[in-house]
Amino acid sequence: MTIKTVVWNENVHEQHNKVVSDIYPEGIHGTIAASLNAVPGISASTATLQEPEHGLPQDRLDQTDVLLWWGHAAHGDVEDAVVERVAEAVWSGMGLIVLHSGHFAKVFKRLMGTPCNLTWREAGERERLWVTARNHPIVAGLPDHFELENEEMYGEPFGIPEPEQTIMISWFQGGEVFRSGATWTRGAGRVFYFRPGHETYPTYHNENVQTVLANAVQWAHNPAARVQNVTDAPNVPVEAALEPFEARGPKLHADGEEGFK
Ligand code: ZN
Repeated sequence: MTIKTVVWNENVHEQHNKVVSDIYPEGIHGTIAASLNAVPGISASTATLQEPEHGLPQDRLDQTDVLLWWGHAAHGDVEDAVVERVAEAVWSGMGLIVLHSGHFAKVFKRLMGTPCNLTWREAGERERLWVTARNHPIVAGLPDHFELENEEMYGEPFGIPEPEQTIMISWFQGGEVFRSGATWTRGAGRVFYFRPGHETYPTYHNENVQTVLANAVQWAHNPAARVQNVTDAPNVPVEAALEPFEARGPKLHADGEEGFK
């Protein structure tokens, strides 16, 4: 079975900043997709903000097992209808991997329900990631810790709901720490947040980072059929109840009427 994966990127810094386009001539999305396509069982394509419907029309999401999301400068340009469409895909079973500054992506905040804020500093510090869940499939093949020589600092407190599992924590030269790998379930979908990936450093060329992303795609893949009509709230009439009974008491709604949403 091939895991159909889409790497979504806002693709803005690559157009305006030579440092970024020198590191990622094919875009951050292109580099990540190429590294995933080198892994047997994963088939990765890309989508960007600039495409119609940001490259994520409903029929493409229906065919997507796992979506990766990198955004930073243009979170506000992502259409709310697409955000809602992605959230519903997650609730119905699509996996979602949110990368780095995607912590402020509309869809991540929608799914977390919290501000998703943090402290930060752009100073090229060394980041040391420590594995905190050694048996977790997302860290399979990784050492107990690894380093990225230059990264942006993200520090606690990170405004997320308590993760179901914290897979990795990061330490930075300036002394801050951060929950850099965390998982949640939302509806039938699995969500993973992975911290590294500042655009002015070659983070997505790092072998350990590529291992995490490939493992995360496999972990986030839900092979079950997508849940249908995941936001429906049907009014079940008395006649359709499993046990026969007589309706009683006052009521607001007519039989079969749609409820408020
Ligand atoms: Zn950054």
